[in-house]
Amino acid sequence: MTEPWTQTPHVAVVGGGLAGLAAGSALADSGFRVTLFERRAYLGGRASSYQHPATGEVVDNCQHVLLGCCTNLIEFYRRVGVEDGGRASVIGPSSLPAPLHTAPAFLRAHCLNLTDKLSIAAAMAALAPAMPRDTGESFLKWLHRHGQTDRAIERFWKTVLVSALNEDIDRVSVPYAAQVMRESFLKSRAAGRMGVPTVPLTELYGTAGDHICSRGGEVRLRSSVESFRAEFAAVKLAVSGAEESFDFVVFAVPFDVLARVLPETTAADPLRQALDALETSPITGIHLWFDRQITDLKHAVLLDRTIQWMFHKSMLLDSRAPRNGSYVELVVSSSKLLVEKSRQEIVDLALSELREFLPEAHQAKLLKSAVIKEIHATYSPKPGVDVFRQQPETIWPRVFLAGDWTATGWPATMEGAVRSGYLAAQCVARVAGLRDAAFLVADLPPTGFMRLFG
Ligand SMILES: Cc1cc2nc3c(=O)[nH]c(=O)nc-3n(C[C@H](O)[C@H](O)[C@H](O)COP(=O)(O)OP(=O)(O)OC[C@H]3O[C@@H](n4cnc5c(N)ncnc54)[C@H](O)[C@@H]3O)c2cc1C
Repeated sequence: MTEPWTQTPHVAVVGGGLAGLAAGSALADSGFRVTLFERRAYLGGRASSYQHPATGEVVDNCQHVLLGCCTNLIEFYRRVGVEDGGRASVIGPSSLPAPLHTAPAFLRAHCLNLTDKLSIAAAMAALAPAMPRDTGESFLKWLHRHGQTDRAIERFWKTVLVSALNEDIDRVSVPYAAQVMRESFLKSRAAGRMGVPTVPLTELYGTAGDHICSRGGEVRLRSSVESFRAEFAAVKLAVSGAEESFDFVVFAVPFDVLARVLPETTAADPLRQALDALETSPITGIHLWFDRQITDLKHAVLLDRTIQWMFHKSMLLDSRAPRNGSYVELVVSSSKLLVEKSRQEIVDLALSELREFLPEAHQAKLLKSAVIKEIHATYSPKPGVDVFRQQPETIWPRVFLAGDWTATGWPATMEGAVRSGYLAAQCVARVAGLRDAAFLVADLPPTGFMRLFG
């Protein structure tokens, strides 16, 4: 770091989700003194695990999946030393070069007929050459304009996009849908491969806290930042009733939390209005424990039902591998229809759908269950949303923003959150005088990816 600093600049990172952990780790690696504040008793934010009170089991708030195109997330895993925390679940790329690599598996799929497949191929060809602009049109309208069959929409486009974007396709903007398809199907063979963590999420992401501490930083759990005052030479944070002073602050909190900590000044009004315009969409995870193994599958996609994905956690999590029974998590993205349903109604629905697909589940006894509704799981990538997503810089020169909802160009994902953290860290470093600071990675060599999922 260059002058005029007489001592190491002190950066507060508010929020111990992936955005805050990525920002904090990158800054600590660059020689900043980092203090990270997290309101909860554990790290990971919306990608975390905890002991579920009714079942006594440690559960992830929801199964988290990553793809090979999540280059910054994979780099972050390397940075904090947990590359082995992901495992491949092969979609089956062929030996053809991109974008033809997915073609053989696609052509063999029985759930679509030839007309469906031809219509999908034509739409993919339309998305391939360049990113479409956001004209306010929904992706569903775009699909109809591009001659998609009802079955292609239900079984292909919805299956991929509702999970990736956590929103119904009649509410999704065209560039966001295009980006998902381009990144995961068209870009490269490695980009579309899927990985899942093999340890509980907080175990995986807690390591990033250790990384910050090992570089002279501090992680303060159960510490809520209530407000801030930006001064000429410092930023003052109100933390659990006391005021603390920092050279820079990165707010890596959800957008509704940021709106609450903003100062009561008219200068903050444009930001407040932009945050007010963002909306969220829910995700529901249904956790079921059976007395016996109900399938050999590690995961499955359920078509034409409420349940979208099945993850066989007892086979995916390292620590649970030897047990006899099955622990499965069923995931419903954009689960607006489940929000008002009771826990029992959701478990009954999930069980009946699961039994349609897995006959073994009829004989198995359900030992316990948990339903986790994340009502405000992610921001909604509706048409026009980019106008409201914020850059890391604010009107206060020492205050920066991160979070999956900021302007990363990515949907609300772990990759988007890590990107936002690196972008904010990059801004802090530049303002502090580290001119060449660049944390964001554009691509990783395929060998790195293979090591992750080895
Ligand atoms: C149910 C669910 C399923 C998902 N599935 C996937 C998936 O499969 N793949 C994928 O890539 N992404 C998935 N996501 C999205 C992914 O989890 C998020 O995009 C990402 O974790 C967001 O990280 P973040 O750091 O931006 O925000 P958060 O994780 O929300 O982090 C913000 C942190 O700030 C803390 N905080 C809040 N207020 C304060 C305060 N006043 N003071 C101090 N700390 C505060 C919070 O406790 C939290 O820890 C899923 C999300 C959910 C909810």
